[in-house]
Amino acid sequence: IVRLSDVRKSFGTLQVLNGVSFSVEPGEVVAIIGQSGSGKSTALRCIDALETIQGGEIEVCGHKIHSPDLDKRALRRDVGIVFQSYNLFPHLTVLENAALALTCVKKLSKAEARDISLDCLGRVGLAEKASFYPEQLSGGQQQRAAIARSLAMQPQVMLFDEVTSALDPQLTGEVLKVIENLARGGMTMILVTHEMAFARKVASNILYMHLGRVWEHGPAALLDAPQTEELRSFVGNGL
Ligand code: ATP
Ligand code: MG
Repeated sequence: IVRLSDVRKSFGTLQVLNGVSFSVEPGEVVAIIGQSGSGKSTALRCIDALETIQGGEIEVCGHKIHSPDLDKRALRRDVGIVFQSYNLFPHLTVLENAALALTCVKKLSKAEARDISLDCLGRVGLAEKASFYPEQLSGGQQQRAAIARSLAMQPQVMLFDEVTSALDPQLTGEVLKVIENLARGGMTMILVTHEMAFARKVASNILYMHLGRVWEHGPAALLDAPQTEELRSFVGNGL
C-alpha cells in the first residue's frame, strides 16, 4: 500500500535521505525509530508529498508521489497525517474541526459530515467534548481531536510523527491507547516514535533509520537482537 524505492532527498547541499527503500502492506503498523536528524520526519513528509524528492519513487495507495501528474487532493483523501502540533482551528469546535474537510473537500452534506465526525470523536473517546473549543481541552484531548479529524476522512493509511512528544506522560498514554485501538482495527499506519515500549507492543515492523538510510527493518524482535552496532547502541541508550 506504501512503497518507497531508492528515495533521495536533499535540502540544498544537505543529503537527508540517501536511497530509502521499504514497503508497507495493508494492515501493517510500522514504527520508524532513529536518532534525531536521521531523516524520519522527512521520510514521512515525502510519503505525503509535503516535500519534493530528488530521486527514486514513492507509491502510496496507487498514487505516484514522484510523478508530476500527482493529484494531491486525491492523495490527501487516502492518507491522513498527524503531527506533534495539533494544528486545530481555534475558532471552530472539535466537531467543526473534524467535519470541515468532509464538507469542503469531500463535499458531503452537513448532516453526513456531522455523523461521521461524531463517530470518529467517539472512537478517540471525545464524544462528550464535541462542542468544546480546542483551548478548552487538554493537550492529549487536542491531539485525539486531531486524530479524529484525520480519521473522519476515512484514510487508507495514517502517518503519525511523534504525536506524543509534546505531552505529559499521563496524556501520552491516552493518545497511545487511541493509536493502539486503530492498530487493532486493522488501520495501516506508519508512526515515527521514540516510545520504544509502545513501538514494541503495537508495531508489526520496526524500521531503524540512520544517516538517511534504512539501517534495519523487521519484526519488533529486532530490538532484542540488533544486527548492527548502531541499533544496539540506540536501543541501549534507551532513547
Ligand atoms: P527528530 O528525531 O529530531 O525529529 P528526524 O529524524 O525527524 O529528527 P528530520 O526532521 O527528517 O529528522 O531532519 C533530517 C535532517 O534534515 C536534519 O539535519 C534537518 O536539519 C534537515 N532538515 C529537515 N527539514 C529541513 C528543511 N525544511 N530545510 C533544511 N533542512 C531540513
Ligand atoms: Mg522528526
